[in-house]
Amino acid sequence: MTYSLLREIDYLLAPRGCAGCLQPDCVLCHTCQQQLDRWVERDFPSSLICLGALFSCARYQGPVRHAILTWKDHGDREVTQYFASALARLILRTLRVTGVSPDNPLVLIPAPSSRSSLRERGWYPMRELCTQLAALLSSYGFHVHVCCALHQKRGSHKSVTGSVRQRQSKSRTYQINRRQLQFLFGAQALCSPSLSLSSSSPSSPSSGSSSQSLLRSPFVMVIDDICTTGSTVVGCIRSLRQAGVPVHAAFTLASVSG
Ligand SMILES: [Zn+2]
Repeated sequence: MTYSLLREIDYLLAPRGCAGCLQPDCVLCHTCQQQLDRWVERDFPSSLICLGALFSCARYQGPVRHAILTWKDHGDREVTQYFASALARLILRTLRVTGVSPDNPLVLIPAPSSRSSLRERGWYPMRELCTQLAALLSSYGFHVHVCCALHQKRGSHKSVTGSVRQRQSKSRTYQINRRQLQFLFGAQALCSPSLSLSSSSPSSPSSGSSSQSLLRSPFVMVIDDICTTGSTVVGCIRSLRQAGVPVHAAFTLASVSG
């Protein structure tokens, strides 16, 4: 039985409400959609993220928190399109301010889910979100690639002890799908970290300039759902840097603080 059929049966039995506030007969009501345009900026070292900040659509609280939990943990996949739209608005604004044009290909790298989460949920929310986000950004003339290059190591799990600073400093590293990165960035990026780390501008010719690279001057973004301590995003960026891929920006749906 297909998911859509199951969803249809579920709807007939219990008509759905807003994922954020439970208002009846809508996926995400207008008021809750507006909550996703209350952008939050958190400072990160520019040595880590070229733009020196992580950008989020909203704070992780109230209806936004409820909608994300409903989407991620209860498989409410109808909400994905609204989250993709909210992220697209934030990213397009950031690209405009930063001066990134459609001449720069965009690379979206979703933060990985743990193997146990993938097993329990039966889907990979961030990949689905990035796929829809890529379609939206493409409609604005950008060439967009979704690159699922990061995987959690077997047996690793989110750190929940220690202070925020301690957790960030002990950020995880992730397994790298070298074939995916090699396809986009070329073999040289994967054996010479300094090649890309010296590049702070998306239009710098040194970024992705390997003759074997598919992309020229790509603008690389890590995308995650929630930023709590920042340790997941930091772990993603460090792992990519170790593979020679610079990260220009990081975006999340929500941020716990900022
Ligand atoms: Zn609502």
